[in-house]
Amino acid sequence: MAELLDRLQRAELPAAAQAFRAEVKDFIAREMPPLGADVRARSWMGFDAAFSRKLAARGWVGVTLPKAYGGAELDAFRRFVLVEELLAVGAPVAAHWIADRQSGPLINKFGSEAQKQSYLPRICRAEVFFCIGMSEPNSGSDLASIGTRAVRTERGWVLNGRKIWTTNADKCDYSIALVRTSGLPADRQAGLSQFIVDLRLPGVTVRPIVDLSGDAHFSEMFFDDVLLAGDALIGQEGQGWQQVNAELAFERSGPERLYSSVVLVDAWIRWMRRNGQIEQHAETLGRLLAHLATLRQMSIAVTAKLAAGESPLVEAALVKELGTTYEQEIPSIVEAALGASPGQPADPELLRAAAYLSHMAPTFSLRGGTREILRGMIARGLGLR
Ligand SMILES: Cc1cc2nc3c(=O)[nH]c(=O)nc-3n(C[C@H](O)[C@H](O)[C@H](O)COP(=O)(O)OP(=O)(O)OC[C@H]3O[C@@H](n4cnc5c(N)ncnc54)[C@H](O)[C@@H]3O)c2cc1C
Repeated sequence: MAELLDRLQRAELPAAAQAFRAEVKDFIAREMPPLGADVRARSWMGFDAAFSRKLAARGWVGVTLPKAYGGAELDAFRRFVLVEELLAVGAPVAAHWIADRQSGPLINKFGSEAQKQSYLPRICRAEVFFCIGMSEPNSGSDLASIGTRAVRTERGWVLNGRKIWTTNADKCDYSIALVRTSGLPADRQAGLSQFIVDLRLPGVTVRPIVDLSGDAHFSEMFFDDVLLAGDALIGQEGQGWQQVNAELAFERSGPERLYSSVVLVDAWIRWMRRNGQIEQHAETLGRLLAHLATLRQMSIAVTAKLAAGESPLVEAALVKELGTTYEQEIPSIVEAALGASPGQPADPELLRAAAYLSHMAPTFSLRGGTREILRGMIARGLGLR
């Protein structure tokens, strides 16, 4: 118990991060038109390379990377503030999101000097975009069983296999793929490695997948005898599992795991104000806001651990599990409240946002690791399994 309490120490955003918030708000006010709730609901899924380049020109892509490689060298707290403000207005950040959040930091941590010099400055200028090649048709939760394989030859590594659910693969330049370099799927974690795969190489086919809401934001990737140069291997051969786990702490802890549908609460409050309904739903609203404040505090606590150079896997899993449960509840809570007053039909923008988020909500607890897997990790972290 004491260990658990130590892990969940309350942390504050430092004054420098709070001051930085004003700078970000100022940038957004100048560079982004206000968007309707139904567009903001796309949140961090909106892909706009030109907007990413504007942010990069301001120094805000690859924000935690060293200045020596073109980064802004901001601490994790200021990154948290930047992300919060961008999500709050529904900025179309998807183009650079993965590189900023995990591929860049991964290359910085495990990559060779040549890889850092080659990729990091281009990431920071938003010239190249990355996607995550982990899941396969039969290996999603069970990542250790992946079968895509790279074989070392005299010419370089030859890659064969298939990845699925790769967000924005069709619009990205590179994927960091987790693949098997030795042994069999039965050997589990042993023998996995990570490669930077140039998606324009011969033998790579990317096929978009249309989702329930009609968007095609993720794809299948096919690798047929793709010849990778020797320096495509990132980090050490056979260390892919450990590297991926360090990467997942970045993926799971951020504000994007809480805020996917908060825009709906925002739009609902505005509608209730106009229609004199706040009092009728004050209790529901109070519960939603108290819940959000607590989750945000937990996310800041995980950010403090990242800022201290730790890899808080279990804590990040906890924030993601609770955060995505919260994000998933919002559409049904708001729709139930709207349905309670059929005499006052909601405006179309609010209804469109609610419809989109209802479609998307089931995915919130899948992307980045499913609820059951995270609960297993939390139980293990608490010594219960
Ligand atoms: C919107 C979205 C974007 C995504 N983007 C990417 C991406 O960019 N790159 C990428 O690599 N992947 C991506 N994914 C894939 C995602 O990470 C996987 O869908 C996820 O890991 C689950 O894998 P699966 O779909 O194969 O389900 P399965 O692993 O087959 O799981 C099916 C069900 O069984 C449960 N289950 C599985 N194993 C256990 C167990 N041991 N104990 C208890 N329950 C279990 C799961 O929790 C789940 O409910 C994305 C997914 C979504 C929805």
